[in-house]
Amino acid sequence: MTQPVKSAWKLPLALTGGLVAGAFGGWLAGGHVASGVALVAIAEIVLLLTHLRHIAKPIMSLSSKPPEDAPYDVPYDPRHDRFMMRSRRLAANLHDLRRAAGNLPDAIVLLDQDQHVRWFNHAAESLLGLRRPQDRGVVLKEKLHNSELAGWLEEPSPEPLNDVSAPGAPSRHINVTLLPFGQRQRLLLARDISHMSRLEQIRRDFVANVSHELRTPLTVIHGYLELLDPEDVPHLAPVLSEMRAQSKRMGQIVEDLLTLSRLETQDHVSEERVQMAPLLATLRKEAEALSQGRHSITVENAANIDLLGSPKDLHSALSNLVSNAVRYTPTGGRITIRWERTADGANYSVTDTGYGIPADHLSRLTERFYRVSSSRSRDSGGTGLGLSIVKHVLGLHQARLDIRSTPGQGSTFTCCFGRERLLAPETHEARSAE
Ligand code: ADP
Repeated sequence: MTQPVKSAWKLPLALTGGLVAGAFGGWLAGGHVASGVALVAIAEIVLLLTHLRHIAKPIMSLSSKPPEDAPYDVPYDPRHDRFMMRSRRLAANLHDLRRAAGNLPDAIVLLDQDQHVRWFNHAAESLLGLRRPQDRGVVLKEKLHNSELAGWLEEPSPEPLNDVSAPGAPSRHINVTLLPFGQRQRLLLARDISHMSRLEQIRRDFVANVSHELRTPLTVIHGYLELLDPEDVPHLAPVLSEMRAQSKRMGQIVEDLLTLSRLETQDHVSEERVQMAPLLATLRKEAEALSQGRHSITVENAANIDLLGSPKDLHSALSNLVSNAVRYTPTGGRITIRWERTADGANYSVTDTGYGIPADHLSRLTERFYRVSSSRSRDSGGTGLGLSIVKHVLGLHQARLDIRSTPGQGSTFTCCFGRERLLAPETHEARSAE
């Protein structure tokens, strides 16, 4: 119960009491009973008004704010206004987001679990050749048939598809990623990388042209240095020897750069039989020649299987790993060359007991000119391009390079070849029949 209601019964009592007291006061003051009553009546009206104010407050507030359980047909509800305002703001935000996604320079396609196109933006029209509205609901890989992207969509991998021609604009290059989205939906993102591709092409051409231009003058300088006999100029003999060594090194760098340029522009290799038994024997001889008896060298051919690929490029890659093992293993160390089958194909590995490589360098070793120790690499006659060549050759054979190393204990470099690159060794009869 509110305060004014609680005290309501006191009011008539107070009024009657006040009037009697006023009349008695007026009689005592000289017989003016009426004026005493009037004075008290005014005071009591003021008191009454104060009471009324107390009662009026809650009534007013009740009328301006309906109770929580007000029926639906109440004509006006301020909460309704707020709800409508929030809905409008949300709809405007959604509209802006959709417009932003629609105008992004990257192509975006929303796919359902069966690769049906559910939504796409403007860039998807120009880069992927999708058309509105007829391509809503089509199966994307069927729509893009005969393109590299369609082949990738048959069995999309978590790795992005790099640098392929855009199906809707063949002169443009794109990178494509497929991301999980919502419940079993996927978001296909295609980024236009034409500008970066062009810059990369300019870089490749520049390196190839410079290397090519340097080749001839270097050959001439090297030739003249070879003609000079240190005995004719004994006081210049050490200088001559250093000049010869440096010109040979420059020549090797130029050759490695040209090899890399060729490998970078190739997208496939010759598919020839690479006989592994004779190749392993050659690698052993090369290792022994480089080691000059400073290391113990073992070759294990447990796989007894051949490879399918480019004999020249595979020889270059596999011998690079052997030469690194010799160059980065101190005298007295062991080097093991192994060729063995695995569950997925076959591995070629070179293990040494050399200096080893700290873990934080491992991921960068195949970058051009990346060295753990520049002085050690230079002293051992390295160009800094060997592992980069290995990586490219393996890439062209769909193989990968695995590197494990412990500083101070040694390293193992493994080339992992897939089953599709393996060939059973030729029998003697088959060879002689050719
Ligand atoms: P480089 O001509 O300098 O040897 P590579 O590309 O062949 O160039 O190798 C890159 C770097 O990797 C080398 O400079 C060296 O620091 C390190 N490296 C390669 N192989 C080995 C190894 N077997 N043991 C230790 N370090 C190695």
